[in-house]
Amino acid sequence: MPAPTCASCHAARAALRRPRSGQALCGPCFCAAFEAEVLHTVVAGRLLPPGAVVAVGASGGKDSTVLAHVLRELAPRLDVALRLVAVDEGIGGYRDEALAAVRRQAARWELPLTVVAYEDLFRGWTMDAVARSTAGTGRGRSCCTFCGVLRRRALEEGARLVGATHIVTGHNADDMAETVLMNFLRGDAARLARGGGLGSRGEGGALPRCRPLQFASQKEVVLYAHFRRLDYFSEECVYAPEAFRGHARDLLKRLEAVRPTAALDLVHSAERLALAPAVRPPRPGACSRCGALASRALCQACALLDGLARGRPRLAIGEREHRGGGDAEGTRGRARAAVEAAAAAL
Ligand code: SF4
Repeated sequence: MPAPTCASCHAARAALRRPRSGQALCGPCFCAAFEAEVLHTVVAGRLLPPGAVVAVGASGGKDSTVLAHVLRELAPRLDVALRLVAVDEGIGGYRDEALAAVRRQAARWELPLTVVAYEDLFRGWTMDAVARSTAGTGRGRSCCTFCGVLRRRALEEGARLVGATHIVTGHNADDMAETVLMNFLRGDAARLARGGGLGSRGEGGALPRCRPLQFASQKEVVLYAHFRRLDYFSEECVYAPEAFRGHARDLLKRLEAVRPTAALDLVHSAERLALAPAVRPPRPGACSRCGALASRALCQACALLDGLARGRPRLAIGEREHRGGGDAEGTRGRARAAVEAAAAAL
């Protein structure tokens, strides 16, 4: 059966069916719709004011690649300036190739790029050194938790270095839904209380952060990268298979099989969640060592570095993971499957 006509331009043949709405679109109309939806998210949420200098957390992966590309398209309308900030965690055999992808993007799109390294920021610690230190302590499966804390700090430092007023990250709806699920599964009420919304306003002197792709499904992010022919890095981090996030991802996939809107529903649930005063997180103050935002005497990064220095890495810092972790299927397989499924649905 021939593919239907695009429901938007009514001229070209449709190339995909949108995973959530079922709308049949051609590639250019889908990309235009995707960009318009991100623009709406940014404008309706008042995420990036005119004149903002925006640090884009660039990992070389599909999400940050799509985010940087879309924001570059929208930058004249939003009246914002973009800076790419990449974090080198010091993961041999993984991050070097991902950074090479970021460098290619920066050159192609003529965007300034700054790379900040854990080794320079955190007393010589790289993620490989942290993994060696935690091996055999019972914390060896928690690399992503440590890494997530340091990554957040490194991105903040990098953004300040380039004079940014705002930080954006490439978290999509699936990432956010996985985070909500993980927080529920851990009973982490304090983090659930912070989990909603499109980001943070920058309390305690931290730069405001937002996630313009928060309502975009992972499948559509992959489809956008496919139709715009974006060059991104798709290998899994060597520490990812250990991450708890992989279990949340599997659970979400099963939920979506019976309820296609499950991911977005979870994101909206987190936004609407109201917690009793007793479980609301304490008002953040300043870290007594570095001055960063902290809900205890030491911020998470300083507490973690202290524990590592004493040979007692600890997780009292709470659980946080970079959403890139933990998927046996792998990013490349997901990308191929998403493109094939959207075309086959026609
Ligand atoms: Fe860090 Fe885990 Fe992401 Fe690897 S998968 S970069 S260890 S957070």
